[in-house]
Amino acid sequence: MEHREIYDDLKHYLTMDKEEFDDSIKKRAFDTLLNHNDGYVEVSALLALTNVCKNDCTYCGLGRSNHIKRFTLDEESVINSIDFVADNNIKEIFFIGGENPAIKIDTYIKYIEAAKSRGLKTNLAMGVFNKKEYEMLKAAGLDTYTLKFEESNPTLFETYKTDISFEDRMNAIHQVKKANLKLASGSIVGLSGQTIDDVVNDIKLTVDLDVEWIPIVPYLPASGTKMAETTPKGDVELTLRAISLLRLMLPDCRITAAQPSSVDGSGFGDRDGNIEALKHGANMLFVEVTPYALKKLFSITDNRTLPRLQEIKDLVSPLNLKIR
Ligand code: SF4
Repeated sequence: MEHREIYDDLKHYLTMDKEEFDDSIKKRAFDTLLNHNDGYVEVSALLALTNVCKNDCTYCGLGRSNHIKRFTLDEESVINSIDFVADNNIKEIFFIGGENPAIKIDTYIKYIEAAKSRGLKTNLAMGVFNKKEYEMLKAAGLDTYTLKFEESNPTLFETYKTDISFEDRMNAIHQVKKANLKLASGSIVGLSGQTIDDVVNDIKLTVDLDVEWIPIVPYLPASGTKMAETTPKGDVELTLRAISLLRLMLPDCRITAAQPSSVDGSGFGDRDGNIEALKHGANMLFVEVTPYALKKLFSITDNRTLPRLQEIKDLVSPLNLKIR
């Protein structure tokens, strides 16, 4: 089955009988992970730098109108976390946070340089910067910039992301690439109003963007947002199918296995959800290194607790997978 054949017939694969999908696409996606990727699952250390955000995306628990206690990590905590990651032989640190205008580009540069000095790969997801700033991040040694497009349907995008147009978001995504940073991007499955054709187009845009990591996830409610009261969790099975199809089309790409299960209330650290995502060909998991007292405040979604390193080792080995 060629990449082009899948790309041109995504709707068929997303909607086919489950048994047929599992016997063909899911099985082949896992075989690809075992053979093409040598069975390696990558572990990244997630460090939330701030939960302050100037934006108000309707699905996100960090939106500025959501009443939560806000924090921004101090420099000492960040450096301690970087040391912890390096000392525990984790290869990558993923700095994530809201779009916080109080944190200046020099601060990110300082953290990237500190992480690089400890031999870590670096990944940053702090929202939209301008061209010059992406170039400065690249010059500091940043490896990957994560900027999700979330929805390829501009109308849907602008319904949920009310502070930026789809065009401006895509321009920012292309600036990441022009700065020679690796790009991580992907979509949310299951926002209200999204059709199966939208999901097809989301997968196609992910492929077209030539990303290195795909943080595709289902919509999960976040307490305090209006959407949490009106919109149920996104379709986990549909997300898993998208993962398998992306694995077959982009065998070298990292795809997040931090996925919920179909059980209500499960979050991205759900053991069964993570295992099922690995079985569908996903290959990236996260441990959290945000200071214990603060990580609950990074409430992008509910039930966000991530596994510990030993728990990741315990869940990948029965699948004949290894971590790096
Ligand atoms: S999704 Fe990102 S930009 Fe939007 S409110 Fe949440 S943290 Fe801010």
